[in-house]
Amino acid sequence: MTTNDIASLMDHTRLGDRRALAKVISVLENINTSAGDRDYIIDKLFAKDTNARFIGISGTPGVGKSTLIQAYGKFLVEKGRKVAVLAVDPSSPVGGGSILGDKTRMAEIAVHENVFVRPSPSMGFLGGLTAQTYLTQLLCAYAGYEHILVETVGVGQSEVEAAEIVDLFIVLCLPNSGDELQGIKKGILEIADIVAINKADGELLSAAERAKMELENAFQITRSMGVKEKDFITLSAAKNKGIDKLHETIESRYHARAGDLKSKRLNQKKAWFRKELESRLMKILRQKKSYQKFMQTPIADVSKTQTIQSFVDQYAKKLINSDS
Ligand code: GDP
Repeated sequence: MTTNDIASLMDHTRLGDRRALAKVISVLENINTSAGDRDYIIDKLFAKDTNARFIGISGTPGVGKSTLIQAYGKFLVEKGRKVAVLAVDPSSPVGGGSILGDKTRMAEIAVHENVFVRPSPSMGFLGGLTAQTYLTQLLCAYAGYEHILVETVGVGQSEVEAAEIVDLFIVLCLPNSGDELQGIKKGILEIADIVAINKADGELLSAAERAKMELENAFQITRSMGVKEKDFITLSAAKNKGIDKLHETIESRYHARAGDLKSKRLNQKKAWFRKELESRLMKILRQKKSYQKFMQTPIADVSKTQTIQSFVDQYAKKLINSDS
């Protein structure tokens, strides 16, 4: 792509052109994009701070993430806001069944002119899934989207990484109590800013209230251990109940902790930058003949004469001392 193309795409993106925005995201996702184009886009993204909200929404499959995003997205759009919906789904390259991949689940809000929906990127991009999503968030903000909702499947390390690139991390839970709750407590207590017990409707209403109390109590116990402040709410995404309360909770977080936001944004940037540097360095390395040869070494050749570590050390030394 010529510099003019990228510049014009970015101009259109800034004016809110959804097709241009989608194209720039693809340019960033494309591993073959030149470093110059990438730098140009990134420079533009960092030229100005954004007031957009970066909100993570996590939880196990079936807990109601898509339903909530529909409901909250609609709530925001009705207030005249612009909403972008992104996804971090580490399973998507393998299973093909990405969250948001099934567009019909998002159909109702996806067609709205103030809504932009982008499924999880598949493999092959630079910097890892969450680093890519971080840039996509910034791009959406650049295009004028004010609320960026990032749907994340609640699994292990990828969830922790996803929490690093958003301002607020909402963990959705089911109204179960006892053992099941025990299992999710630890993870929730570590990374959630807002714990929302969904499906607080019909027969599950009282169970949801109970679950909320149990979680609140569990949090009180760990509070002295320096765990971050949390809000606990119940809601029903399907019945549209508690959405206003969720919004209030989110907004009051932003208003009460404006100072926190600055350091959060800096940490997000740092987390992304480390990945960006590492990926670019690896890209250079992968193109080196000596590296390709190194990676092709048969295991028998190494273990016969030396330890794996000494073999790697040897190559690293050679690499650092030469430019070949
Ligand atoms: P996700 O996999 O976390 O995105 O979950 P979905 O949004 O696809 O919801 C899974 C199922 O739970 C669907 O059948 C929804 O209709 C249902 N569901 C979602 N939210 C609620 C709710 O608030 N109350 C009830 N009763 N069901 C819900």
